[in-house]
Amino acid sequence: VSYFDYNATAPIRPEALAAVVEAMQAVGNASSMHQPGRQAAYRVDAARRQLADLLGCSPGEIIFTSGATEANNLALRAAFTAGSPLVTSPVEHPAVLETARTLTAESPKDLVLLPVAADGLVDLDPLDQVFAARRGGVVSLMAANNETGVLANLRIAVKAAREAGALIHTDATQIIGRLPVDVTDLDVDLLSLSAHKFGGPQGIGALYVRRGAPLPHRPLLVGGGQERGWRAGTLNVAGIIGMGAAAEAAARGLGEEAERIAAMRDRLEQLVTSAIPDCRVNGRRDQRLPGVASVTFPGVPADAVLAAMPDIAASEGSACASGAPTPSHVLLAMGLSRADADSTIRFSLGYATTDAEIEHAAHAVKRAVTQVRAVLAEADA
Ligand code: PLP
Repeated sequence: VSYFDYNATAPIRPEALAAVVEAMQAVGNASSMHQPGRQAAYRVDAARRQLADLLGCSPGEIIFTSGATEANNLALRAAFTAGSPLVTSPVEHPAVLETARTLTAESPKDLVLLPVAADGLVDLDPLDQVFAARRGGVVSLMAANNETGVLANLRIAVKAAREAGALIHTDATQIIGRLPVDVTDLDVDLLSLSAHKFGGPQGIGALYVRRGAPLPHRPLLVGGGQERGWRAGTLNVAGIIGMGAAAEAAARGLGEEAERIAAMRDRLEQLVTSAIPDCRVNGRRDQRLPGVASVTFPGVPADAVLAAMPDIAASEGSACASGAPTPSHVLLAMGLSRADADSTIRFSLGYATTDAEIEHAAHAVKRAVTQVRAVLAEADA
């Protein structure tokens, strides 16, 4: 099977796998005072530095969580205060959108959803108006969209939030380890990430909190006071060490790697669009993650196409909210019809993708779309 679902989860990097296995063979709670415990704490510190180096922050600005879902929940629950605006967008991951809806359920006027253009870019112009009426609050915008790969104009959002005295959070789950990001330079207050998107293990992630950010101390989990009281519970030592190893591996040659992946993605789009002339690529093409191609095949249901090419592991929209066959809220917000949203396939590639897999996938897509179209034509006749 050729794997084209890196945005759902990336294959674990060999460095991360080796680090996890080694860590799981050692005993030690990072909070214990004896030698095995101190050894675990020492290795957690080293991993915290590896992750900090990837992000361009200091290790003390990182809180380990179970992933980006928890990091997003923690960030918004700490940053939001009823009566002040919570500004986000309709194309966010459910971990942000559902948290925002839950937090503002009693005060729906606090929730502000910015408009989205047909190319997937969130329109930041209304921010002036929002903050002219009420200052403060929190702005939460994803750095890169998981379905289309479209990159937000985060710097503009950061500037507007700063001027209005609002906190700024970004769900950077899809960009970390795929494109170079320097959080200190970006100047956000809060940033969420998940290790398995960049070749680390599943079930571990982090929330970056800028030193000095005026964030009320509102942890989600209280108990043993780990992570400076921000996230109680025995540290996931093996997961953290695996994430650190993946961060270090991802950081190596990141810029060149992104170019190599973008070239493969462009080749895939070119082969598919020339083989199936009426298909359309979604999302602003000059402001996207390198490894994502979201393609609509009008009139051809994506689930049928995916079933017709079982050796290609791609997905319909996102897998993050798996199970329910609802049309993509991201594509609908960009103005696609329900039928077109249901005829869209997301191919996401990454560090282990090969040129041969690109050629293979393009052939498979052409064959599958042709086959499904023939079946539909026969049913119509
Ligand atoms: N945010 C974005 C943009 C994602 O793509 C994902 C993917 O699942 C998440 C958050 C949630 O990450 P996790 O499931 O690892 O908590």
